[in-house]
Amino acid sequence: MDLGLSREQQEFQERARELAERVVAPGAAGRDLTSEFPEKVLRELAAAGILGVMVDQRYGGAGRDCVSYVLALEEISRACAATGVVVSVNNSLVCFPIEHFGGEEARQRFLPALCDGTHVGGFCLTEPNAGTDASAQQTTARREGDDYILDGTKIFVTNGLACGAIVVFAMTDRSKGNKGISAFAVDKCSPGVRAGQAEHKMGINASGTSEMLLENARVPASHRLGNEGDGFKVAMTTLDGGRIGIAAQALGIARAAVELSAAHLRENPGKGRSQALQHRVAECATELEAARLLTLRAALTKDLSMQDRSVRYSREAAQAKLFAAETAVRAATAAVQLLGPAGTARSALAERLFRDAKITEIYEGTSEVQKMVVAASLGFR
Ligand SMILES: Cc1cc2nc3c(=O)[nH]c(=O)nc-3n(C[C@H](O)[C@H](O)[C@H](O)COP(=O)(O)OP(=O)(O)OC[C@H]3O[C@@H](n4cnc5c(N)ncnc54)[C@H](O)[C@@H]3O)c2cc1C
Repeated sequence: MDLGLSREQQEFQERARELAERVVAPGAAGRDLTSEFPEKVLRELAAAGILGVMVDQRYGGAGRDCVSYVLALEEISRACAATGVVVSVNNSLVCFPIEHFGGEEARQRFLPALCDGTHVGGFCLTEPNAGTDASAQQTTARREGDDYILDGTKIFVTNGLACGAIVVFAMTDRSKGNKGISAFAVDKCSPGVRAGQAEHKMGINASGTSEMLLENARVPASHRLGNEGDGFKVAMTTLDGGRIGIAAQALGIARAAVELSAAHLRENPGKGRSQALQHRVAECATELEAARLLTLRAALTKDLSMQDRSVRYSREAAQAKLFAAETAVRAATAAVQLLGPAGTARSALAERLFRDAKITEIYEGTSEVQKMVVAASLGFR
């Protein structure tokens, strides 16, 4: 079906598909077992412009649109969902807020290295007592002359073990609640900033997730993103875009699962003749197409918002992420079920997809949070 993609968008998708098959897929199962960060893979993706897809070319980015971004991310995630989230966080959660809320000095300082693969970025919002309720931040940022001093502990930072730059949210004025949070771009090599414990998870094993410890970390005021007190707005706007990336990641997982299930039924005529099994795969394939349309709609709306600031895409992003994540879980569950015992083998593709898919329902806002966003757009309080 012609989705009206431009020649540039199609070429970018084809380039990502070629890299996904040649560079990303071969080590994916091994990285899942060892949790090895996909460092070499990222260098190749950087050369193709995939680490800074939407970043302006002035800062070393590819200067492309959000539709191109989701097309590429689906291809990468189909090959390796862990690499998919590494790429998604770098683009959506780190490059985006620095480019759109940072001053010129911060953009020049951080973006070229995030786009060319010198650094990968981390996003530090979640804390032991601040996840869904992001306003409950305990990390503090205290002004001292031309700097801020940051103190606190962040958890579940994707890329945390490998990153060179982070976006950090911290309270500059606790008395103001949400409006007392500020956002900062921080050099991970600065004194007082270090990765803590690795987080051992059920899936997305190669994404270097860790705690991030900030102990008397000095950050120049020129690296603040937005005004003092804008941090909550920066976080929510950034996550709206991030959710489109996670929707694309979930599409990649769902597509891999549907392809695996269909191939298995074709290769096993005994099972393949079962209409019940065929229908299960047919349902997953249909949901995958629907999820892709929702994701493209969200990406198109985000692209429109870049020209017209009055265009919002929170609802579109939440609906895409909600539906694509649940589609990935259903498709991966079906793949394990259809393959039977072979689908449960440790690090068999079906089993890896099953573990990776579940996490798409959790990060960058759980499915419950996405429903809250959609409900709010319908006027519910
Ligand atoms: C692999 C992985 C990578 C991650 N990477 C990052 C990262 O890079 N940076 C970062 O900052 N964070 C990251 N996170 C954290 C993630 O975004 C949070 O875990 C998520 O937002 C949920 O917050 P929480 O952990 O505090 O859970 P909680 O808020 O405690 O939620 C637990 C459950 O309760 C439900 N719940 C909570 N409040 C409500 C409510 N009011 N109504 C209904 N249901 C509710 C939630 O939906 C969820 O099902 C990552 C998490 C994982 C698993």
